[in-house]
Amino acid sequence: MFSKVLIANRGEIAVRIIKSCQKLGIEAIAIYSDADAEAPHVKLAGRAFHVGPSRVSQSYLNMDRILAVAKEACAEAIHPGYGLLSENPEFARRCQVEGIIFIGPKPEVIAKMGGKVRAREIMKAAGVPIVAGFEKHINDVAQAKGFAIELGYPVMIKASAGGGGIGMQIVHKDDEMEKALKACQGRAKAYFDDDSVYMEKYLESPRHIEVQLLADNYGNTIHLFERECSIQRRHQKVVEEAPSAFVDEKLREKIGNVAVQGAKAIGYSNAGTVEFLMDKDKNFYFLEMNTRLQVEHPITEMITGYDLVEEQILVAAGKKLDEEKDKPKLQGHAIECRIYAEDPKTLLPSPGKVNSLTLPEGDFVRNDFGICSGYIVSPYYDPMLGKIITWGNDRQEAINRMVKALEDFQAEGIKVNIPILQKVISHPKFIAGETHTNLIEQILTEE
Ligand code: ADP
Repeated sequence: MFSKVLIANRGEIAVRIIKSCQKLGIEAIAIYSDADAEAPHVKLAGRAFHVGPSRVSQSYLNMDRILAVAKEACAEAIHPGYGLLSENPEFARRCQVEGIIFIGPKPEVIAKMGGKVRAREIMKAAGVPIVAGFEKHINDVAQAKGFAIELGYPVMIKASAGGGGIGMQIVHKDDEMEKALKACQGRAKAYFDDDSVYMEKYLESPRHIEVQLLADNYGNTIHLFERECSIQRRHQKVVEEAPSAFVDEKLREKIGNVAVQGAKAIGYSNAGTVEFLMDKDKNFYFLEMNTRLQVEHPITEMITGYDLVEEQILVAAGKKLDEEKDKPKLQGHAIECRIYAEDPKTLLPSPGKVNSLTLPEGDFVRNDFGICSGYIVSPYYDPMLGKIITWGNDRQEAINRMVKALEDFQAEGIKVNIPILQKVISHPKFIAGETHTNLIEQILTEE
């Protein structure tokens, strides 16, 4: 087992990982930028090292500096969290070269799932159903129009290197193609330094269903059921729940096994998530695989009793899983709401000082946050402050507890998205489980 683990991340996820390290008796080593000198993750860690200025490119993405700190602190392993360096195969490879364990899959596996076109190709070959589309990058407008005719409008042009809902364009007809293609390539280049794009059929109002996986270094892989993440804005998740109200036991086993099959085909190890879109007839199609811990992992923890970060550390240290004995049991229902520092009217980020913070309390309420009273929300980072998670014996009980928790949450000094979350959680369609990826837009235009 490790005695020291460096956490190459910040915010709520760094806090989350430190807690599991402490539970395992591991010293957690934090890193921080100028803007984060006073951040909760720095205070909570056993030791913390400054890695650079506020901009992530100079601090949290500075591989040379982070690896130097890991060596100086004698960390045996690095937990990358999510975002930042978590899906960077070069970083995983450099850890390997330095003799530091990267808590995640092997670099070549990360690389395989990093490009969406290649991931589609691999999953298709492994017998996993994929969203109708092409395993080819688009070269020009004429080719794109040809592809669209083959698929039938509407279609979606997507950045192969995309993430965080960035770099997707819906195209309804031929006339829109040129502009959409240029826009998508431009965004892909600007955000991911890679302008390759490809095309998928645009599914109308599907559900986003994903399967949590856990695999050891010996090929043993289990699934920890599904999460539904259909409540999204600009293709980014806002509310997640586990299990999905739309998935029955038979479908749960089927989609879980397909995800395991995909993971085994690529020699997957550690925690990972296979994302699918599901249509109204319960057909599901592979969307992408995230080779890291997800933001929404706590809802899976709440319904299984597993500590996923602990499991990640243990399997990275060599723990073997038993595919039968380690199968989790599903208990109750959990919901997560992501709390963003944003103006609920304009949807623009709302950085600034949190004058006072009140988190909801209760037996079945969990708060995963990386802020505290007096904390300054910096414009340099993602505006997600943290997550509120509630559990119930059934879905309605989890919803009721979330309604109360959202009422109790208070952050003075900054604007947060609580009013939007409240609208969603108490909307008849959400309560009835009639969720899909365009539901928030519909709810907000109802007024
Ligand atoms: P990212 O990697 O940026 O998160 P994903 O490929 O995972 O992008 O898709 C994010 C979301 O975008 C999905 O959950 C869904 O709401 C929407 N989306 C993506 N592809 C399609 C598609 N082909 N049809 C309809 N919606 C899609």
